[in-house]
Amino acid sequence: MIRFEDIHETVRRHHPTADLELLRKAYIFSAVEHKGQTRASGEPYLVHPLEVAGILAEMQMDPTCVAVGLLHDVLEDTLTTPERLKDYFGPDVLHIVEGVTKISKIPFGTSEQRQAETYRKMLLAMVDDIRVILVKLADRLHNMRTLHFLAEERRQKIARETLDIYAPIAGRLGMSRLKNELEELSFQHLEPEAWRDLSARVAERRQRATAFIARIRAAVEEKLKAAGIAAEVEGRIKRLFSIQQKLRRQRIDLDQVYDFVALRILVDSVPDCYAVLGVLHNAWRPVPGRIKDFIAVPRPNGYRSVHTSLVGDEGHPFEVQIRTHDMHRVAEQGIAAHWKYKEGKSGVEHDDQAFAWLRQLLEWQQEVQDPHEFLTSLKLDLYPEEVYCFTPRGEVKTLPRGATPVDFAYVIHTEVGHQCVGARVNGKIVPLRTRLRNGDIVEILTSPGHHPSRDWLTLAVTSRARAKIRHWLNVHERQRALDIGRKHLDRELKRYDLSLKKLQATPGRLDQLAADLGVGTRADDLISAAGYGKLELRALLAKLVPAEKLQEAPPPEKSRPLADAVKRLLRVGDERIKVRGTDDLLVYRARCCNPIMGEPIVGYITRGKGVAVHAQSCPNVTGLAYDPGRRIAVEWDRQGEGAYEVRIAVGVEDRPGLLAAITSVLAGLGTDIRNAEARTFDDRTAAIELTVRVADLKHLEKVVKSIRGVGGVLDVERHSVTR
Ligand code: MN
Repeated sequence: MIRFEDIHETVRRHHPTADLELLRKAYIFSAVEHKGQTRASGEPYLVHPLEVAGILAEMQMDPTCVAVGLLHDVLEDTLTTPERLKDYFGPDVLHIVEGVTKISKIPFGTSEQRQAETYRKMLLAMVDDIRVILVKLADRLHNMRTLHFLAEERRQKIARETLDIYAPIAGRLGMSRLKNELEELSFQHLEPEAWRDLSARVAERRQRATAFIARIRAAVEEKLKAAGIAAEVEGRIKRLFSIQQKLRRQRIDLDQVYDFVALRILVDSVPDCYAVLGVLHNAWRPVPGRIKDFIAVPRPNGYRSVHTSLVGDEGHPFEVQIRTHDMHRVAEQGIAAHWKYKEGKSGVEHDDQAFAWLRQLLEWQQEVQDPHEFLTSLKLDLYPEEVYCFTPRGEVKTLPRGATPVDFAYVIHTEVGHQCVGARVNGKIVPLRTRLRNGDIVEILTSPGHHPSRDWLTLAVTSRARAKIRHWLNVHERQRALDIGRKHLDRELKRYDLSLKKLQATPGRLDQLAADLGVGTRADDLISAAGYGKLELRALLAKLVPAEKLQEAPPPEKSRPLADAVKRLLRVGDERIKVRGTDDLLVYRARCCNPIMGEPIVGYITRGKGVAVHAQSCPNVTGLAYDPGRRIAVEWDRQGEGAYEVRIAVGVEDRPGLLAAITSVLAGLGTDIRNAEARTFDDRTAAIELTVRVADLKHLEKVVKSIRGVGGVLDVERHSVTR
């Protein structure tokens, strides 16, 4: 079992001037918190955080990061609260521990091969400090090393996750030593039989291979010495996992594996690398097409080395990797090799080069807007354009930043989108405008027969969702406009003893009219134009009715008794408003002016939302924000029971008892107060905002007048916008 003193010693060696008090404190804290807990192996739980810290210390991580190794499980597995952790160790440690805890809660369970890349991206996107990943990788490495203590099912799941998610991340970060060990262990647990079989077959060849390596190594050392190049030569048999990969990929037998054995030559400088290459190619025959120069063109993860394959004296090919000691360190440790700790400063500093390298190695990374900002804050935002969310079944969906549950619904299925009535995010019902965040588990609530509305276009950010909504609206609005237009036209035409049916009896007549009036080419265009309110009715009538007859006709408003023309309003319409002469129209009071009973009103046919009713004094009406062609006559239904909420702003002197005086006046008028808020200002005045319910305009006028009459009231104003 690893001892704390060993870890302490390793960190001190790598960071001689750092204050290691934090580390000792973390050790004691972790020991106390995990006291009495045991691992599946039967060992005390503390062994795990110690081992994880040990791995991080070997990776030359800074003391904060190693301390987090000791503390990484306290939030998840003990009663420690975030507050307490912060009190003891500060915000940095808390932040990283929370990051590690968050990652371990990602439900990778249902990961399919093709989703693995998305999972990896999501995991990195959820992380804003690279140390979170490093701790998580160290944690996973120790768990993999002790995996044989777990039950078969858990073992399979963890090994699969390691191979699909964590090993590739280690690879992307250039940490090949860690990646290799994770892969070997995963292979061993995922395919125990294949693993046993392959290791037996490799073992058969091992003796021969080892002898071969020894011979070739000695020969290489001799040649290099003769050339005056100082070099360190290592020989090895390749890892089982990579041999297995090669066998499967190339469908070949073990005997055909080229680089079953490999030589690694470490030198002091780049010129030496090429000098070694020259010496080797002189002494042995190189395999054509197998020379790879990753020094001139480094791999995206920062790996640099020159590779070549040579044919040995006995005809056996072998691979050689040539690199400097520095390159080797990076090849083994990746991002960890670039880690720099600045003593006396909290946190870590990257130099520009390391940053450029970090950017390079994350090959799927989006452009970072401002590299300088990135450097100073050390916050990672690897995918500023994307968020990753889950379905309740653990499937991950990629969405653009700013996406809402509406977008999510359309990603799942068009019908789910259309019928979306709400969403639950992480178990809580949220408004549809909620911006989704990384790791959110999103459940879409649907209701059959529910439809998209035009406001959804302001909620949806994905082009897919917007296109689907638009398409639905276009199709359905047009249908609705056709229905409305047909009724409109028939009603108007009837007064001149005409009807659509009669006009349609002459083939092409309506098509021609549509063209003449510039609204389209077909009869339907004409009818829907009338429904949308885009058609100038007088212009149409002028083409059908002699001018003198047209003059005779009474204006439409007076053509018939109101009661005849008014029919029930569609759906949730405002039943207190009647639209003259038209039935089946959805009517609603416009929010901009919130007209109340008794106020002069006008209606406008909107696209697909029925008739918006505005006060005649509404700025949107007087400002001609609406096309006069869409205007439609509306009026209040006097029989209806009115109750309108109106907001009133009252300016008052700031003195006690005023609000009470106002409310008692309102009570005297039988006025219901829905809400009252007061704010005071420095100049000894105050503003009271009231929401009251009134029956009609007369009632409101009485209310305003009475409030004005209260002593100390400076000014009363009706607010146009309701909340
Ligand atoms: Mn752990």
